[in-house]
Amino acid sequence: MRPRIAVVGSGPGGLTFARVLHRHGHPVAVLERDPAPDARPPGGTLDLHEGLGQLALDKAGLLAEFQALSRPEGQAMRILDPDGAVLRDWRPGPDDRANPEIDRGRLRDLLLGPLGVQWGRGVTQVVPGARDGVLVRFADGRQETFDLVVGADGAWSRTRPAVSAVTPHYTGVSVVETALDDVDTRHPDIARLIGDGSVAVYGVNRGLVAQRNSGGHVKVYAQFRAPLDWHAGLDLADVEAVRSSLLALFDGWAAPVLDLLRRGTAFVHRPIHVLPVSHTWPHVSGVTLLGDAAHLMPPLGAGANLAMLDGAELAEAIATAPGDLDDAVRAFEERMWARAGRWATITTAGLERLVSPDPAEALALFDRVQPS
Ligand SMILES: Cc1cc2nc3c(=O)[nH]c(=O)nc-3n(C[C@H](O)[C@H](O)[C@H](O)COP(=O)(O)OP(=O)(O)OC[C@H]3O[C@@H](n4cnc5c(N)ncnc54)[C@H](O)[C@@H]3O)c2cc1C
Repeated sequence: MRPRIAVVGSGPGGLTFARVLHRHGHPVAVLERDPAPDARPPGGTLDLHEGLGQLALDKAGLLAEFQALSRPEGQAMRILDPDGAVLRDWRPGPDDRANPEIDRGRLRDLLLGPLGVQWGRGVTQVVPGARDGVLVRFADGRQETFDLVVGADGAWSRTRPAVSAVTPHYTGVSVVETALDDVDTRHPDIARLIGDGSVAVYGVNRGLVAQRNSGGHVKVYAQFRAPLDWHAGLDLADVEAVRSSLLALFDGWAAPVLDLLRRGTAFVHRPIHVLPVSHTWPHVSGVTLLGDAAHLMPPLGAGANLAMLDGAELAEAIATAPGDLDDAVRAFEERMWARAGRWATITTAGLERLVSPDPAEALALFDRVQPS
């Protein structure tokens, strides 16, 4: 008898897990809270690294399709100072495929392929050790049991409490996201400023980053150190009030840079929360975590990559396990914890340097990680 496996969440981690199991002919129930794939805007662009996200796609048999959909030119990166002077202008070589960009929505559709996701199945609780396996309770009052439940349900995981009492904490850095559409026709000056990839500007304890997505869509991220309640007294739904507050925060920066905020269409507040750098737990038979649910870390280009590789490796371990399902999960956990710990250390230090009292720290960080 094949084990009954469920994955909670259809983000990059959960879908990669399901897709690799599917490739090995192993059935899996994908339980997703969202009522439909397009119920929420899919988010911005992701760069998938050769040894992480791309490796995971290879394990899913999807690397060639990814290469056709991705944007290698999106690896371009320009850094300005707050006066608008160009400090760095990196462009990828013609064959550079180390970290090509892909829109999240396109990646989701690529991974979904033939998978039959159960939409609108929000999980409220996962209870190991039930008589017939691991019990999953749903928001609609129903319940089901499985032999293995994989929590790929992100930062505020409802699966995590089954294995760990740890919850995310605030880093002291908040992000407010905005977006512009049709930049090439409606905002050609901004299109030139951003180029094919990203532009970043760093000041004292704050930064502005703009990233080109496909179809002339641009996402802008204002990042700054502030208490979690920095917006007390501000109505976050009031677009003009948020815009004014951000323009005051970045007061004195060059006009073309501030245009990124002046022309943004709506604002979304994203305080950055993380789990402890080395988050592990005593193994619980029948339940595990992957991706942000296991190792939420600062959003410095690793989280989706790690979630995908976690998913691919766990699926491979299960599909090829000659013996016990539990042994395969234990071995996966050890490997995931070691890798996530390394990346959490890197991204935690990276956030300190990117949103720092000394903007030269951000430039020095890029000089180290970008090819010269
Ligand atoms: C602004 C920003 C930019 C980023 N840029 C990058 C980048 O360039 N590269 C990169 O690698 N990473 C990036 N990240 C990080 C990346 O987004 C996450 O690490 C990644 O999405 C984690 O994937 P996941 O599958 O673990 O979880 P998620 O993507 O969070 O997916 C979780 C899924 O679970 C579902 N779910 C949640 N709760 C339940 C429930 N109770 N029941 C059922 N379903 C549930 C959710 O609806 C969702 O579909 C960025 C993050 C942010 C905030």
